[in-house]
Amino acid sequence: MILISCPNCGSRDETEFHYGGQAHVAYPEDPNTLSDEEWGRYLFYRENTKGIFAERWVHSSGCRKWFNVLRDTVTYRIAAVYRTGEPRPTLDGDPQ
Ligand SMILES: [Zn+2]
Repeated sequence: MILISCPNCGSRDETEFHYGGQAHVAYPEDPNTLSDEEWGRYLFYRENTKGIFAERWVHSSGCRKWFNVLRDTVTYRIAAVYRTGEPRPTLDGDPQ
């Protein structure tokens, strides 16, 4: 069982949440100018990080709001939780 700390509701069981993929993937400014390959990369290509990974979660059984989590993909340990729109927190060991 993983406890996820929703920024609005506090710690809850992971069964109350749904995973939303990689965080900080910006929608293209002018999608009509993208080639099929560029559009495909935006839609389908994501990092496959071993270690700390920034990802989106939604508290679907609670406040129903999206937020971001820094989670270690090896240990499942959650290093930080932050609201959508906030910058990614810096962790000890991050490259400067
Ligand atoms: Zn919540």
